[in-house]
Amino acid sequence: MTPRLKVVVDPGHGGDDTGAKGPKGLEEKDAALALAQDLQAALEKAGFDARLTREDDTFIPLWDRARKANEAGADLFLSLHLNAAKAKAAKGSEVFFLSLDQGDTDAAELVALENAGAVDRPAQDTVLFSILQDLAQKAYLQESERLAVHIQAQLNHLGGIKGRGVKQAPFVVLRGAAMPAVLVEAAFISNPREEQKLRDAAFRRRVAESVARGVRRFFADISSTPRRQGADQGR
Ligand SMILES: [Zn+2]
Repeated sequence: MTPRLKVVVDPGHGGDDTGAKGPKGLEEKDAALALAQDLQAALEKAGFDARLTREDDTFIPLWDRARKANEAGADLFLSLHLNAAKAKAAKGSEVFFLSLDQGDTDAAELVALENAGAVDRPAQDTVLFSILQDLAQKAYLQESERLAVHIQAQLNHLGGIKGRGVKQAPFVVLRGAAMPAVLVEAAFISNPREEQKLRDAAFRRRVAESVARGVRRFFADISSTPRRQGADQGR
């Protein structure tokens, strides 16, 4: 019997780090956890071994999230967040993979918001540590992009949106992941309608099922094409 593919789902923020806040007061950390629990259930149902980086309202430093996935020997890392924009009308889902260029300005405000949890840098956060972190994800960037494309396609379908592409940005949480890894901004918590939808369990389940379908398509995709040398080292 082949072991199940392992997916680590990371609910963004937690504890004192609330993340973004909706106009009616819904906090990103709570919406992300609820969504992550639904995603865990959807992935388990689809035959994956799905685990969470946090099961409750606790703060985990950004560096430790990918480390947990590495230590678990995960095949995939998904960090789940909710988007926020000054324009109340902004809506829909965006899927990101890592940019190694810190000056990538395409999503600068969002990146600043999401990287705010990168306080309490570990003592080993020397230049060398930083380089090793980047190297971890660097080997998987092509696969991470493919993963992002598959998940974005499913979320576009769910939202009735055509042609929204994936984005690349320097999110700290993705840097150290030694496996395909993406950050999903599932909806805009700053949009009053989407904030309302996020409180609806049926909507969250639909989002979770779409992401899980994207994950399944990704694995079907990479298993039908030869993998790059070295990409599957140690597994
Ligand atoms: Zn976030």
